[in-house]
Order: sequence, then structure tokens, then C-alpha cells
Amino acid sequence: MGEPMEIFDLTGKVAVVTGGNGGIGLGMARGLARAGANIAVVARNEEKSAQAVQSLQGMGVQAQAFQADVTDADAVSNVIDAVTQAFGGIHILINNAGINIRKRPEDLKPDEWQLVLNTNLTSAYLCSRACYPVFKRAGGGKILNNGSMLSIFGTPWGPAYAASKGGMVQLTKSLATAWAEDDIQVNCFLPGWVDTELTRNARREVDDLHERVLARTPAGRWGDVEDFEGLAVFLASSASDFITGAVIPVDGGFSVSG
Ligand code: NDP
Repeated sequence: MGEPMEIFDLTGKVAVVTGGNGGIGLGMARGLARAGANIAVVARNEEKSAQAVQSLQGMGVQAQAFQADVTDADAVSNVIDAVTQAFGGIHILINNAGINIRKRPEDLKPDEWQLVLNTNLTSAYLCSRACYPVFKRAGGGKILNNGSMLSIFGTPWGPAYAASKGGMVQLTKSLATAWAEDDIQVNCFLPGWVDTELTRNARREVDDLHERVLARTPAGRWGDVEDFEGLAVFLASSASDFITGAVIPVDGGFSVSG
């Protein structure tokens, strides 16, 4: 493969990836690193983060792990300060950290509802808010928010998850309209079914999930984390400078098939 086109070049840019120590977050971090970006991995599990950072450093970029719980406003504020100091600035934020608690609405407890909302949606608000002054100083920035097919569809098994992911779309549109004048683009992508730890747990809990996903996905396969590399580069680079508030499925056709 040749050198990346200049509009996709991220050399010297700094990206914060929440939940960047595995799954889709690490896939996106790898895409950004391939285009030259330095990566700050923000997550709780230090061992996983150390491994992720090592693999990113092996790609020839700077990478560092920052331990933080993204539901904690003070921790988020401190971690964004720490990344800014360590790397000299931040240009890209990927709000990717997320969890699900697989329960029907009548069984989900209020504290479980709150935990899912805080982890998936409030964290994106907190991280975006903390990055805003840093982006302004840099003259612009890019925010990528991770939604879901449950940003569009409902499910009996994930009321808090679907509410958080639907909220992610509206948060994206609101931040996009607020910060366009600061040259900050904010976009949301909606993964279909992707093979990660999160869905491996779901597959253990639901017998025929694997087959149902294959039957329902026109591409006839599960997504891989590598499927998110190109989108990450596009939405983080100057190639997408006039795209903001967009909602982009990355789903092998799941959302457009009847
Ligand atoms: P993983 O479980 O592999 O990744 C989740 C990541 O979030 C982990 O890195 C985890 O790190 C981090 N995380 C969770 N809670 C917190 C917290 N409180 N503070 C900091 N980090 C946290 O699953 P995926 O890669 O599949 O999920 C990533 C995102 O993609 C999620 O938002 C998910 O909803 C979304 N998604 C996934 C789909 C799929 O099919 N896999 C489909 C649609 C959306 P740690 O535990 O170390 O903190």
C-alpha cells in the first residue's frame, strides 16, 4: 500500500480514545496510528491498556495509557489535563467507552439504568466538554461518538442501552451545531454487530444470536474491529472538514435491510 493521501494524514495529531484498550476503540486507535496520530488510551483496566499501548507503540507512534472511569466528572477533567500536558494538545476525541446490562425494562434496577446512561452517554458529554477549551486553543477539533443499531431500533433487552445510544445521536447533533463555528466537527457512527468482548458475552447469553446476526446482516458476516479503521481516519482528518452532525452506520447493511 502507498503513503496515505495528504487529506487523511494525521501525523503529529493527538487522539484520546475512551475504551481504547480493546474492541472497537482499539481498532479505531490502530487506524489513527496507521495515519500517524499519537494515541492516549483512556480506560479502567490497566493491564489491558498497557498491552494496547504496547501494540500502538509498535506501529511507530507515541501512545500512553491513562487510567480513568469516564463516568466520573473530576476524573475526566483530570485525565484530559494530563493528556494535554503529556502530548502538548489534543485534536481528536473518540467517545467509545460503553457497557450494556442485558435486562428487560421491568427487571432493570434504577442504579443499573443510571450506570449504563453514565457510561455510554454522560461520559461523552463530560469528555467533549473537557476537550472543548483544548480544541479551541488548537483552532479546531474532531469528535467521533460511538452509537449503535440501537440508536435507531428498540429492543426489549436493553432499554438503558438503547436510550443512551439514541441520546448519543442527539448529543452529536447538538455539539455539532454549537461548535461548528469553532471548526470542531462532531459525528456519530453506528456499528452493526461486531465481534468483541461485549458481543461475546451476549453470544454466551443468547443461544442463536450468532446465526440471527448472520441472517439479518446483508453482508453475511459479523463486523471486525478492523472495519472501523478507515472511518476513524476519515472522520478524524481534514477529509471530513465540512461533515458535522452526521450519523453513519457501519453495519454491513443491517440498518437498511427489511
Ligand atoms: P468492549 O467491551 O471491548 O469495549 C468497551 C470499552 O469501554 C473497554 O475498553 C472498557 O475498558 C471501556 N469502558 C467501559 N466502561 C468504562 C468506564 N466507566 N470508564 C472508562 N472506560 C470504560 O466492547 P466494544 O468494543 O464492542 O464496545 C465499544 C463501544 O462500541 C461501546 O460503546 C459499544 O456500545 C459500542 N458498540 C459495539 C457493538 C458491537 O457489536 N460490539 C455494536 C454497537 C455499538 P475498561 O473495562 O478497561 O474500562
